[in-house]
Amino acid sequence: QVPVICVDGPTASGKGTLAAAVAARLGYHLLDSGALYRLVGLAADKAGIPTDEASLADPTTADRLGALARSLPVRFEGESTWLGDEDVSDALRAESAGMAASRVSAVPQVRQALLELQHGFRRLPGLVADGRDMGTVIFPDAPLKVYLTASAEQRAQRRHKQLISKGIPARMEDLLADLKARDHRDMSRAHAPLKPAEDALLLDNSSLDVEQSVCQVLDWWQG
Ligand code: C5P
Repeated sequence: QVPVICVDGPTASGKGTLAAAVAARLGYHLLDSGALYRLVGLAADKAGIPTDEASLADPTTADRLGALARSLPVRFEGESTWLGDEDVSDALRAESAGMAASRVSAVPQVRQALLELQHGFRRLPGLVADGRDMGTVIFPDAPLKVYLTASAEQRAQRRHKQLISKGIPARMEDLLADLKARDHRDMSRAHAPLKPAEDALLLDNSSLDVEQSVCQVLDWWQG
């Protein structure tokens, strides 16, 4: 069985950074499952499929989104992500793409469509998978499941620093409100809500730096 390490947790908890560092250290593949939901949001936008809450409640729209997710023309090339013939690496990281991802990810047809795609990332020598339901739904047999947390204020502050360093204007209170809205939606949706797997190990990184978090996960993995 190909080994998998799951890293789940709320928005901006540092899952992506931690998962990438652990994958690099072990020489494992990396699955950024959030990127897949962000891609569905972007692809829906391009295809003119509305993703506001009211439209998503319409079964026809939900089916169209499911079909779109099943045939997503996505390619990952090194650091770049392509949707068809367009490099969407930057568009994918925008706050609006995250919000769209959070809305379309509540649609069961979309989650079902992305299930097989995600299983396909499990290849030798191993996989580090980051997301919301890696340990609970996608890889329930994973030998190590980490649930990463930090306070909402800490996470908003980190996101703020990140955006400002890229020259993107951002207000703390807006970021905090968006983040709380996203937490609420992720945790309260009926289908695959965000919660720690029963056998997950909790890691609160509020007062840890990246290296300390990486060491903790590697300790768990090797221990
Ligand atoms: O992790 P990231 O911020 O890129 O994820 C964007 C959104 O996609 C999340 O807010 C969440 O709603 C959704 N998502 C999900 N399941 C995953 C990964 C992401 O529902 N495994």
